[in-house]
Amino acid sequence: MRAAVMTAAGRVEVLEVELLPLAPGRIRVRTGATPFCVTDVMNADGVFGKVPPTILGHASMGVVEELGPEVSGVRVGDRVVVHGTAECGRCFYCARGRADQCSLIFDRPDGPPGVARLPDGRIVTAAGNVGGYAELMWVDARQVVPVRSTLSDVELGLLGCGVTTGLGSVFNVAAVVPGSDVAVVGCGQLGLWMIQAARLAGAGQIIALDPDAGRRERAAKAGATATLDPDEADPVEQVRALTAGFGVTYALEAAGPALAQRQAILMTHRGGTAVLTGCEPLGAELNLPQVPMALQGRAVLSSQNGRVRMHHDIPRYVRMLEDGRLDASLVVSAEFALEDVERVREASRTHRVVTGVIVPGAAVRGGAGGV
Ligand SMILES: [Zn+2]
Ligand SMILES: [Zn+2]
Repeated sequence: MRAAVMTAAGRVEVLEVELLPLAPGRIRVRTGATPFCVTDVMNADGVFGKVPPTILGHASMGVVEELGPEVSGVRVGDRVVVHGTAECGRCFYCARGRADQCSLIFDRPDGPPGVARLPDGRIVTAAGNVGGYAELMWVDARQVVPVRSTLSDVELGLLGCGVTTGLGSVFNVAAVVPGSDVAVVGCGQLGLWMIQAARLAGAGQIIALDPDAGRRERAAKAGATATLDPDEADPVEQVRALTAGFGVTYALEAAGPALAQRQAILMTHRGGTAVLTGCEPLGAELNLPQVPMALQGRAVLSSQNGRVRMHHDIPRYVRMLEDGRLDASLVVSAEFALEDVERVREASRTHRVVTGVIVPGAAVRGGAGGV
């Protein structure tokens, strides 16, 4: 099968690879659609800890083609979301109700399992144990959710990471109280889901910040009540000016730079809550003033994949997309063939697309893609 493989830090090649035979608990899934998000940009650049060679694409969807031994809960022919986070149900974290930190993904002393073989014999791993930029995926059955839905492959593919992280940041992590003011810092894929979720949660003001005018326009369509350009004036002061000088109750950060996270935290009022989702390359640090953090009652919460419980959250989010309460068209910019991986990588990095989606089964479109 063909797969987009990171063969060295910063180098991505579409190669013919041979999928390994299924180990116990594993399933083979024919890939439908895999979004390209900022995590994938950083993985491709080799700045987020991925060891080559690895197939990129850390969340996806597809149709189950084959079951390995000892698989339960999923059948051949099922349409499944291949989620960015597993849920083994038994590890230290799952036992504490924190499947978002499941050891199946984050605690692997021997490294991630190999899924395929390169022509030169080297074994290839898969980003997030998914590897969605490939015609086939070799995944753990505990990392998929079967769905029955009228949604398109592209829409379902978004559920593995962007939807669950954006909505979960509002519903599970911040637990936004109706009527309270929310700021969303960064209006890319995650920010646009956060805005839609804040609207559904009944937020009062939804203040969206992004330096890109096109993204601010999308934010307004998604439900932002005010949009601000953080480059125009101090974003903390701009948010205070809209909230009678207090700041917001919840600031949701979906931008990435440590400076944006600091600003998000400081644009909450005393006793407010900031939720952080972004990352710079590994090793970056966040600097904060002591008094607002130690004496002013602020909470700073991390939102790895929206503190997801995938079997509970994904079916609900599927219904909300089906009945139109959530709009995926605001978030998706364009579809790409597997061979276009470098184009979508560049378009994502330079913010020319909000979300590019790779459809590995699609014919090479040469020049299409809408970028
Ligand atoms: Zn677990
Ligand atoms: Zn992602």
